[in-house]
Amino acid sequence: MTATTHALVGGAIAATIPDPVLGVSLALTSHIVLDMVPHWDFGWGWRKKTKLKFFLEAAFDLCLGFILSYLIFGQRVNFGYFVTCVLASEALDIIEAPYWFLNWRFPPFSWIYKFMSSIQGKAKLPWGIVTQVVAVFLLVIILKRI
Ligand SMILES: [Zn+2]
Repeated sequence: MTATTHALVGGAIAATIPDPVLGVSLALTSHIVLDMVPHWDFGWGWRKKTKLKFFLEAAFDLCLGFILSYLIFGQRVNFGYFVTCVLASEALDIIEAPYWFLNWRFPPFSWIYKFMSSIQGKAKLPWGIVTQVVAVFLLVIILKRI
């Protein structure tokens, strides 16, 4: 999914789960569960993009996600905990980044790349965004009931 979706979920977890061990674990695992939902993201067709274009898109996505997540969920939460949950929710894509941008085709980067590629659910636009909006809403509703 987009980094924005992962950041929103990480922020929502930080805002609703006060226990940091549980919160960070949930944020980490949420990435795998979310990526299985059919979706679109900037990683689609990354081999056909220039590295600069892909990097700028990824950086934009990361910044947008962090700002939106902070505005919606982060203001009433300890800032360190909020940042940790957001980073944990994006960790698998962040660890994968050297594979994309630095051609580091060796473990653990190649393992993460293979694993993450194998579980990706794909959906074309606009449905690939709609599924992410729905997933974030459902998770926020579930988290608020815990
Ligand atoms: Zn991902």
